[in-house]
Amino acid sequence: PVNNQKMVYVRAMTEYWPQEDPTIPCVDAGLPFQKGDILQIVDQNDALWWQARKISDLGTCAGLIPSNHLMKRKQQDDMKIDEKCVEAAGFRRSMRLCRRKSHLSQVRAGAWCADSCCSAVGTPYEEVMRYQRRPSDKHRLIVLVGPSGVGVNELRRQLIELNPNHFQSAVPHTTRSKKSYEMDGREYHYVSKETFESLMYSHRMLEYGEYKGHLYGTSVDAVQAVLDEGKICVMDLEPQGIQVARTHELKPYVIFIKPSNMSCMKESRKNAKIITDYFVDMKFKDEDLQEMEDLAQKMETQFGQFFDHVIVNDKLQEACAQLLSAVQKAQTEPQWVPATWVS
Ligand code: 5GP
Repeated sequence: PVNNQKMVYVRAMTEYWPQEDPTIPCVDAGLPFQKGDILQIVDQNDALWWQARKISDLGTCAGLIPSNHLMKRKQQDDMKIDEKCVEAAGFRRSMRLCRRKSHLSQVRAGAWCADSCCSAVGTPYEEVMRYQRRPSDKHRLIVLVGPSGVGVNELRRQLIELNPNHFQSAVPHTTRSKKSYEMDGREYHYVSKETFESLMYSHRMLEYGEYKGHLYGTSVDAVQAVLDEGKICVMDLEPQGIQVARTHELKPYVIFIKPSNMSCMKESRKNAKIITDYFVDMKFKDEDLQEMEDLAQKMETQFGQFFDHVIVNDKLQEACAQLLSAVQKAQTEPQWVPATWVS
């Protein structure tokens, strides 16, 4: 590029394998990439094919990648093929129901619909920039994501316990009534169903769920209140909630907590020397471990582009130390964030 031309960097929101693309002019010139890779766009003059490098490989020659426009077209074509298969199999209605079910199940149980039919075509490349938080800036929201049972809750609790003056959870909202020993704004913000629902429908709830007929959830404002106090807000989210949290005002740093593979998990539970209290307490059956591993895999496939950092929770104490270090780096070292967050 010309010297004074601004370099463009993007985060790949999809994966690309040149060997599997019959339309690429020259397979050997193609640049394969995975979701979440940061690419330096070297040339985007051609309407169909751009030239790019991975920032992890800046010393290498640039390769061909589909332009934004071409990639979108490819994604739409893939969707059409999916829909045709679905139609041919007579599943169209049940897929639609599934879309609705995923919404309802989010409301009912905070459950996450892992089916690919619930993922939508979005932008293939997101322009990113380096952002380094200045000491006068608010802290970035720390979001923990992971399959249930992997220890997301436990890690959040332990991190806050390390330094409760520095780390804090947001105070959730609930529609249930206040108990005698509770205080409004301490355990919960107690609100009517109508107020809760209006927050939900105006996208001011980052996550919500129903428990014993009452609604519970965490609002953007409750997170903002923690950040306004100069503290680091730590919350866990279902992966489909990440996009709601990804705003300029919260600048979330997303950490994916994943289980180690089945054999490691079994081993860490078998060997008394390296066993942790955490795994003793969990008493997982093999099927549970397999389910957790499968769900983690699905989350990574569908939402991996949003993960800023990944921690394998093999031993809780080690994972907690890694979490603390990642959280500190997120607040003090330069990180790639959507360009729209940097102004
Ligand atoms: P309790 O009414 O006993 O304080 O809370 C009961 C349950 O409400 C908790 O175990 C949890 O399942 C749910 N809950 C509490 N806070 C939240 C929240 O912020 N979001 C969601 N989705 N559920 C919550």
